[in-house]
Amino acid sequence: MPPSSSTQAFDAARERDALSVLHSVFGLPGFRGAQEQIVRHVTAGGNCLVLMPTGGGKSLCYQLPALLRAGCGIVVSPLIALMRDQVAGLTESGVNAAVLNSTLSAQEASEVERRLMAGDLELLYVAPERLVTPRCLSLLAQARIALFAIDEAHCVSQWGHDFRPEYVALSVIVERFPDVPRIALTATADELTRKEIVERLSLSGAPQFVSSFDRPNIRYEIVDKRNPVAQLKEFIRERHSGDAGIVYCLSRNRVEEVARALDDAGIPALPYHAGLEASVRARNQDRFLNEDGILIVATIAFGMGIDKPDVRFVAHLDLPRSIEAYYQETGRAGRDGSPSSAWMAYGLSDIVQQRRMIDESAASDAFKRVSIGKLDALVGFAETATCRRKRLLAYFGETLKTDKCGNCDNCLTPPQMRDGKILAQKLLSCVYRTGQRFGAMHLIDVLVGRLTERVTQFGHDKLSVFGVGRELNEKQWRVVLRQLAAMGHLRSDSEAFGALKLTDSARGVLRGETEVWLREEAPHARIRASRTKSRRGDLAPAPAPPQGDIDPELRARLRAWRSEVARQRGVPAYVVLHDSTIDGIVRAWPTTLDELRNVPGIGDKKLEHYGEELLRLVRARGE
Ligand code: ADP
Ligand code: ZN
Repeated sequence: MPPSSSTQAFDAARERDALSVLHSVFGLPGFRGAQEQIVRHVTAGGNCLVLMPTGGGKSLCYQLPALLRAGCGIVVSPLIALMRDQVAGLTESGVNAAVLNSTLSAQEASEVERRLMAGDLELLYVAPERLVTPRCLSLLAQARIALFAIDEAHCVSQWGHDFRPEYVALSVIVERFPDVPRIALTATADELTRKEIVERLSLSGAPQFVSSFDRPNIRYEIVDKRNPVAQLKEFIRERHSGDAGIVYCLSRNRVEEVARALDDAGIPALPYHAGLEASVRARNQDRFLNEDGILIVATIAFGMGIDKPDVRFVAHLDLPRSIEAYYQETGRAGRDGSPSSAWMAYGLSDIVQQRRMIDESAASDAFKRVSIGKLDALVGFAETATCRRKRLLAYFGETLKTDKCGNCDNCLTPPQMRDGKILAQKLLSCVYRTGQRFGAMHLIDVLVGRLTERVTQFGHDKLSVFGVGRELNEKQWRVVLRQLAAMGHLRSDSEAFGALKLTDSARGVLRGETEVWLREEAPHARIRASRTKSRRGDLAPAPAPPQGDIDPELRARLRAWRSEVARQRGVPAYVVLHDSTIDGIVRAWPTTLDELRNVPGIGDKKLEHYGEELLRLVRARGE
């Protein structure tokens, strides 16, 4: 019997059930965050809205109640690939799950319908446009329905970026099935979207479970851009060799170039951008999803609907447009909750380039002003000397309880700040004396007293500023320049080929009225430093680094085995075992099935299917 719509109906016996199903089917030891409350509420027949960040564990919030309640759980999702993978994962765990969408033949679809009517399905994933057809609705009316889960519920929002008209039509389920619990889920947090979801899906009065949007397993790092491809290669070699990752670049040419450079360096990388033929794009995306350790180098066109849980890093070789975009793009790392990196190389040229793109766009002045505001906020984030996570969350109106997250570059190795007034004055007067007509390279040549052809040609070696900046080298001056531009004392002029000009605020600096604090250390040096420091453990505990104290050989062997199994069965590697489960095995080094069973991610079915083989692989360690 389905319980009455009161939470009291969720009795102790069922609570035990919830935990035991969590353990036996999903192989997980306990709930995360609000999951328990949500599962309890929905299992008891309640409606609700769930706001959780990517990777927060939304699926369990409806999958578990669907298993605990009588009947079949109907999941509405706009993403076909996501449905397919979820069903593959559930089937793998012994759950009777199926999908109903346009990819099925008529015969396959009627087989799914038959199973639904026979009460043989526990979860059914349905595309929204299919669900609202009269035929599907009358079918559902004859079946026993445990709940409706509306995934990616922000698609009902007309103002949002993912609006889907089919989602608006979903209000029909409220009319047709008023007594079946509805759970709407999304990772888009803003107030307006939330209101629209509540309205369209008649959820007023239903509880809203709002999680923190923090992604604690992601380590944020921003380095000074010098030779970005070389820096990226080094980052991958040191921290993420053999891992899957996404590299974002601004232009198609750059995407091609970087993918080739990585591939030449023995790091398997595939390009993805709108200029590639659709079939090539699809093939590259498939390989990225299904094979192990592939990098995709992409423009921002890549990512929507990418649900790969084991993306270990997202690297930006160019600055995104806004903090929102940065959060969304970096958020594609680490959906599985395992340690992951968001790494970005950033320099003066990024600020100049983005400004130019805004200036030269055909948008209205109001839109340009908003865009510049967003760019400034992101540049401020990139320059901050304090905790990046705190700053990121603050932008979205959330307060991190501590001052140091312990898992960003600034927390791991706090940058030294120094009084930069004199340096700033030298640089700004160099800009002024040379007539505000030159770019970074020439200005630095003058400061360090380099007699280039141009310097002599313009007589800049005769200026008082010639050679006044010998205390810093070229790289250090670039960092100073970038910071002054980020502070708004310098602006590049798109009409004068990116020449740097003084702004009004620069006068305050030149007159000595404005303080200037500069980051002492070039961020580049800090990556390695951060590792030693975190090992010493003198800061808040951070998740282990991705390549932590793990036997790389055993891990590689397990991954190779997983790839082979996935290939034979035609499913993505993570459907067989998640990275976190593999790492769990490597750490636990289980010798018996019981020990293996305790590794998170190993449920009854996985134990049955792969247990012996996994133990054999572990035993072979060191042989
Ligand atoms: P979302 O849909 O919110 O992006 P998912 O439901 O795909 O997130 O879950 C993300 C990852 O977190 C999955 O790998 C899942 O196995 C894992 N996960 C979810 N709940 C738990 C839990 N209670 N304990 C451990 N891992 C969990
Ligand atoms: Zn931090």
